[in-house]
Parts: sequence; structure tokens; C-alpha cells
Amino acid sequence: MKKLYFITGSQDLYGEETLKQVAADSREMAGFLDGKLGDTVGVEWMPTVRDASEALELCLKANTDTDCVGVITWMHTFSPAKMWIRGLEALDKPLLHLHTQKNEKLPYDEIDMDFMNLNQSAHGDREYGFIVTRLGIPREVVAGYYEHDDVIEKIRNFARVCIAIDFGKNLRVAMFGSNMRDVAVTDGDRVESQIRYGWNVNYYGIGDIVDLIDEVTDSEVDDMMKEYAVKYEMDTDDVDTVREQAKYEAALRKFFKAERINAFTDNFQDLHGVKQLAGLAVQDLMADGVGFGAEGDYKTSALMAVLCKLAEGKQGGTAFMEDYTYDLTKDEELELASHMLEVSPVFAAGKPKIQVHPLGIGGKADPARLVFDGVEGDAVAVSMIDMGDRFRLVCAKIRMVKQPKPMPKLPVARLMWKILPDFATGAAAWIYAGGAHHVVVSTALTVDDIRLFAKLTKTELVVIDENTKLNELERELAINDLLAKFK
Ligand code: MN
Repeated sequence: MKKLYFITGSQDLYGEETLKQVAADSREMAGFLDGKLGDTVGVEWMPTVRDASEALELCLKANTDTDCVGVITWMHTFSPAKMWIRGLEALDKPLLHLHTQKNEKLPYDEIDMDFMNLNQSAHGDREYGFIVTRLGIPREVVAGYYEHDDVIEKIRNFARVCIAIDFGKNLRVAMFGSNMRDVAVTDGDRVESQIRYGWNVNYYGIGDIVDLIDEVTDSEVDDMMKEYAVKYEMDTDDVDTVREQAKYEAALRKFFKAERINAFTDNFQDLHGVKQLAGLAVQDLMADGVGFGAEGDYKTSALMAVLCKLAEGKQGGTAFMEDYTYDLTKDEELELASHMLEVSPVFAAGKPKIQVHPLGIGGKADPARLVFDGVEGDAVAVSMIDMGDRFRLVCAKIRMVKQPKPMPKLPVARLMWKILPDFATGAAAWIYAGGAHHVVVSTALTVDDIRLFAKLTKTELVVIDENTKLNELERELAINDLLAKFK
């Protein structure tokens, strides 16, 4: 279980009795939050920080504790903030400043000077907040009584983002083949991705996986086929073609386990020795949260794995998607999102069907794939692009809708959605922002989740939602370009 440190600030000025009370109160509060957040993250109480050396010691401890994914700080009393400088400068875990106090209500009849000196986060948290601002450290500030549900849920959302960032720091991405020839937006600076997010992205020759595919046994394929039979409807007589995909999936799962890989890419121009492009195999892997990006798109693949981790415990699905084509009927514009094959069944409105159809491009055997219509509801589409001097996340709110008519001749799974605030604004905004045709779509996550992830990883974020206005967005992009030059 990953955990957050719960660190309480004070100082020596108030004497032994007050510090004893601070310790007892903070222990109780950490225990309460640990109980409430237990299915997401542990909350571990830390001894009260009274001076600079104790602040530094705890921050260094948080850095080196591999189970610690983030730190909660708050000031029970006043805590002069110069003592926090060295510790905060050293801290390399995400920070939440909880602006709260032990008591919910003021004890109007009893309150005296001692009470006020003991319970003065209104005072101490402002002093502490100043130094975090002065140091330029990104953090989440949550204000409110710690037992209130909205406060607890904000801490839970922070914890989820911390867990996803921590996951990213250990993420290994396999690229089978390289980036698709001549495609720009799917490419990027892999060294910079590792520096900023920890994503370790490596090329593997397709031959490495071909050898493993050849070694897959009939009984391993049988096991895979049994799983498919439970989850999906077999809508083809061409069982051998489906078994071929089962073989790919079994081989990929073995490879990922051996190499500790949680995300991958492939490239349909580089399939030497593989009969079909992986379709059903990739779709079934994505449903398990394994990151995927087609055509060598390592950024979308890694982002998918990280956002699946962030969405753990939430209702809804998260996966790779591609913007494909439109219905441009005036004022009823819809987007049809799909891919050559690889659409995750987490978005299926009904039971996905396994079908075999020819593939228009790539010159390979007809591949098996899952075909289905998409779910309805609110979602986000997130794209990561490499601006040369920084990464940018573009996050659009979308509304997934039922397809207005059947598409009996379309041999792939498809989603349909409305772009917010309207097609003309939202689609133009996306293009001004440089958003890719590859995205991670999530019905589990919200713009606020992506915003917090961007903030804590110091990533530029452009949001497109019901409030977007094109002239303001263009101005925001110009200012962002200017700011990036001063970083
Ligand atoms: Mn694509």
C-alpha cells in the first residue's frame, strides 16, 4: 500500500504541554484520514516539526521512502517558515497543504488565549503558504475541516495523482519498431520524457516478439480463447485467425512480465514475421490497463498507462483513441473516433463481437478484432505533444453519444462524441493548441484530475471546455509560449 506522510508544523515557543497536545491531535487526525482513505492510500503520522533540522529530516525521509508517494503538511500552531526552506527545497514528492484545524467549531464559551495559541492554522498556514509560494513549489492547497467529505475526497484525488506519478517514475514502455515514418505528432523526446516523468522508453526489435510467438503452446492459446469466450461474442467461423491473435497476446503478456513493461507501441509498417497486425490482442491488453499507442506513439501509450493508474478505483474506462472522421451536419456535428483495429472494449456499450475482416492498409493477413458501438456520457480526451522546449497536455471535455444510425459496413469499433463548447470552437481550439489525432479518452477522469496531474508534474495544460473562447485561447497559447522562454 502506498502512503502519504502527514506532517504537522509547530515550534518550540509554546512549551512542552502545547507540543504534547499538538502531537496527540495530529496523531488522531492522521489516524482518521488513514481510516477514511484506506482503500486508496495509507496516511502515516509523522512527529511534529519544531525546527529546520526536523523539517529537513522528514522531507529527506519522504524522498527515500519508496512507499511514500506524497506529503501532507499543515500548521497546528504558528511555525515560522524560514525553518521550512531547506526541507521544502529538498522535497521531491508531491505536496498537499491541508489548511484545516483540529476543532470544527469555535468553543465560544471557553475560548481563551491558550486555545487560540494552540489552534492557529489560520495564522501559521499563511506563514507557511508564503514560503511555498516564494520557493515556487507546485502544490495542492485544500482548505476546510478535515472530517468533511469534500475535504477527504480532495485528499483522495491528490493521492490518486500521487500514485499515478509514482507509477510513471517506474514505468517501462516497449516500442516494437520505431515511430511511424514521417509522422510528426506521435514522435517526441524520450530522454526528456524520462527526466520529467520517469518514463523509460525502449525500442525492441519485432524479432524479439516473433520468437516468443513461435514458442506459445496450444494449451496457452486455449486458455486465452476461454477468456475471450467469457468476455466477448465469437462472431466468426475463422477460429484459426482468432487463435493467432490469442498467440500474440500470450506472447506479449510473457514478454511484458519478463521485462516489467506496462505500456507499448507497435507500427504496422514494421511487422516482419508477424502474420496479422495485432488487433484483438491489443484491445484485450488495453482493457487491463496496459498502455498502448499505435504507430510508435510512445507518449500516448505511456500517458494511457499513467491515466489508467490515476483512474483506479473510479467508475468508467480509460484508453487510447484516435480522431477519425466527422458528421458535419450544421449544429449537430459529431466526431467518429476509432482506429484501424485498436479500440479498447472498456468503451463498449454492449458485448463486443470478435470478427475477422481484411485490413485496408499494411498488406497483412485479415486480422481478428473486437467490434462494438461506444458508450454514452461525459468524458475527457487528453493529448500530449512535444513542443520542443516542453511537453503540453491538451485536455478537452467531450460528450460521448449514441451513434445516430447503424454502420453495418464499418469493420471496427467506434465511439461518437460531441466536442465542447460547439464543434466550430472546440475543434479549432484543439488545432490551435496543436493537439494530436491520438488521445487518451477517459470516462472515469475529469478535467480537474488532469489539471492536478499537470500542476504536480509542472506540465503545461490547455483545457478546452464549455467556457472556451477562441480569441482567449489564442492569447493563452501566446502567453504560454512566452512563459516557456523564461523557464
Ligand atoms: Mn493512429
